Amino acid sequence: MTITKETNIFEKVNKEEVYQKLVEIFGKENVSSKSVDLYPYSYDMTECAPNMPDFVVIPENKEQLVELVKYCNQNVIPIVPYISGNNVGGLTIPERGGIIVDFGKKMNKILHINENMMYALLEPGVTFGQLKKHLDENFPHLRYNYPFAPPYAGVVGNAMLSGMNNMSCKIGSMGDSINGLEVITVDGDIARIGSCFYGKEEADPDSWWSRYPMPDLMGLFVNWQGMTGLITKCAVQLWPKKPIRKFEALIIFNLKDVGEICREIGRTEVIDDIALGSIEIVKMCCGIPEPKTFPGEPRMMSISTITAHTENQYKAKKEIYLNIIEKIKQQGIRIYSIDFDEFVKLFNLRLRSLVDLPSMVLSLFEYSGLTWFGSYAPSHKIEELSQKVDKLFKKYNVPLYLYMKSMKYSHYCIFRPIIRFDKFKDEERIHKLLEEIIDTCLELGCIPYKTPAWMTEKMRKKINPGWLKLFEKVKKMMDPNAILNPGRWNT
Ligand SMILES: Cc1cc2nc3c(=O)[nH]c(=O)nc-3n(C[C@H](O)[C@H](O)[C@H](O)COP(=O)(O)OP(=O)(O)OC[C@H]3O[C@@H](n4cnc5c(N)ncnc54)[C@H](O)[C@@H]3O)c2cc1C
Repeated sequence: MTITKETNIFEKVNKEEVYQKLVEIFGKENVSSKSVDLYPYSYDMTECAPNMPDFVVIPENKEQLVELVKYCNQNVIPIVPYISGNNVGGLTIPERGGIIVDFGKKMNKILHINENMMYALLEPGVTFGQLKKHLDENFPHLRYNYPFAPPYAGVVGNAMLSGMNNMSCKIGSMGDSINGLEVITVDGDIARIGSCFYGKEEADPDSWWSRYPMPDLMGLFVNWQGMTGLITKCAVQLWPKKPIRKFEALIIFNLKDVGEICREIGRTEVIDDIALGSIEIVKMCCGIPEPKTFPGEPRMMSISTITAHTENQYKAKKEIYLNIIEKIKQQGIRIYSIDFDEFVKLFNLRLRSLVDLPSMVLSLFEYSGLTWFGSYAPSHKIEELSQKVDKLFKKYNVPLYLYMKSMKYSHYCIFRPIIRFDKFKDEERIHKLLEEIIDTCLELGCIPYKTPAWMTEKMRKKINPGWLKLFEKVKKMMDPNAILNPGRWNT
C-alpha cells in the first residue's frame, strides 16, 4: 500500500464536511474516499514517489466543476485533474493529497466533428481509440494523428502536454494543433479561448476553427499540467485521410549517423513522420525482451511514412525520398533501405504495432514500470546525444531503448531514451540511470516534456531567472492559493 505523506489540507474545513459537500455537488455514486478506490490514483508506471489522494470525484458537467473549484479555492483543498494517468511523468500523482477529478469516466464525449474546417470538439476524457473508431465509422475521409500511447490514453491530455504523434514531422507538436479551449479558472469563471470566443453563454459548434489572431491565452493552459485551470472542452485539428499510406524503413549501422539521417529525411517535406528507434526496440518487438548487442550489427532503424492522394503523387514523393537516401549513402554513411511491410512479414507482425496506431506497443508494457526522458531536442545535437546516452545504458547494463523523431520538417527533434523496469524492485538503480541521462541531455540543451517535479528542480537551476519570475507571477495570478495540481514544476 502506498505510504501517504502527512498533509494538513483540512485546516479550514474538516474531511467529513468536505465529503458531504462533494456528495452534494456530484452525487454519492460519483464520490469516494475509500482506499480501494483511491489507490489506483496514487501512483503511475514511473518511479515517481506515490501519494494517496483523499477523494476521487467523477464529474458529468461544468456546472459541478464551477462549484467544486469555488469551494476548494475558498478552503484551500488541492484538485488534481486526471484523464487516464498515462502521461509517464507522475503528473497526476496527488503530491499534496486532495481531490482527484477523473474526467475519463463521464466527461468523455465527442461533441462535434466539423468536416469542412476539419476539427473535433472533445470533452477531456475522449481516448485515442474512441476518436479513431468514431472517425473510421463516420468520417472515413478524416484522420487524427496518434502517439505510441495505448488506445485508452486521452487525446486532450496528449495535446495539452504538447505530445508528438505520427504526423509530427509535418505538423510539429500536438500543442500547436489545438484550435480552442473551454476552461474553468480557479475562481469559477468559464472562459472560451480561440475563435470560439464569440457568443455569451455557449459557442456555435462551428466556431472552433482557429487559435489566432487574438492574444494567445491558450498559452496559459498548454503544458501547465493542470496547474492553471480545468479544461472542459478542447478542439483539435483533423487531417484528410489519404488513400495511400506506405512505410519506408532504413537500417542504420552507426549511432553517429542518426542525426544526419533524421534531419535530412525530415527536411524532404515529403513524409508525414520519421521515427528512429534503436535496434534493440526491433528485437523487443520480435519477442526478445532483454536483447544483447553484437559487434558490427546495425544500431538503429528508421520508419518514414509517405502518404498520397494518387499513385503518381506517391511515386513523386518516393523518388524524392530515395534521392535523399542516395545522397546520404554518398557521404559514406552505412544504411540499408528496406520495405517495411515485407520486413514485418518476415520477422514479426508485432512490429506493425509501431505504425498501426493507436496500438499497444507491447515492448513498452513488458515490465511493470516505464519511465523516460522525453524531450524536445536541438536537431544538430542528436548524434552527440545518442552516443552519450548509449554509453550510459551500457554502464547500467540496460538494453538501449532510444526513440527520436524529426519535428516540423526538422526545425527541432524529439529525443526520448526510455527505460522499462521492475516497479517497486529496481526503482533506485533505474532512477540513477535516468538522472545521469537527464544531466547529459540538459547539458546539451534538451527540454523535457511532461516533466516530473523532480526533473523541473534540475531545470530550474539552468533556466533564465526572468523566465522563472514571470512563470511564478502567472501561476500566482491563475491560482493564488496553489490548489491546482500543487507541486508540479516545484510550485
Ligand atoms: C506506453 C506509452 C507510450 C506513449 N507514447 C507517447 C508518444 O509516442 N508521444 C506522446 O506525445 N505521448 C506518449 N505517451 C503519453 C501520452 O500520449 C499522453 O501523455 C497521454 O495521452 C495523456 O494521458 P492521459 O489522457 O492519461 O492524461 P493524464 O495523464 O491523466 O493527464 C495529463 C495531464 O493533464 C492534466 N489534466 C488532465 N485533465 C485535465 C483537465 N480537464 N484540465 C486540465 N488539466 C488536465 C493532468 O493533471 C496531467 O497533468 C505515451 C504514454 C504511454 C503510457
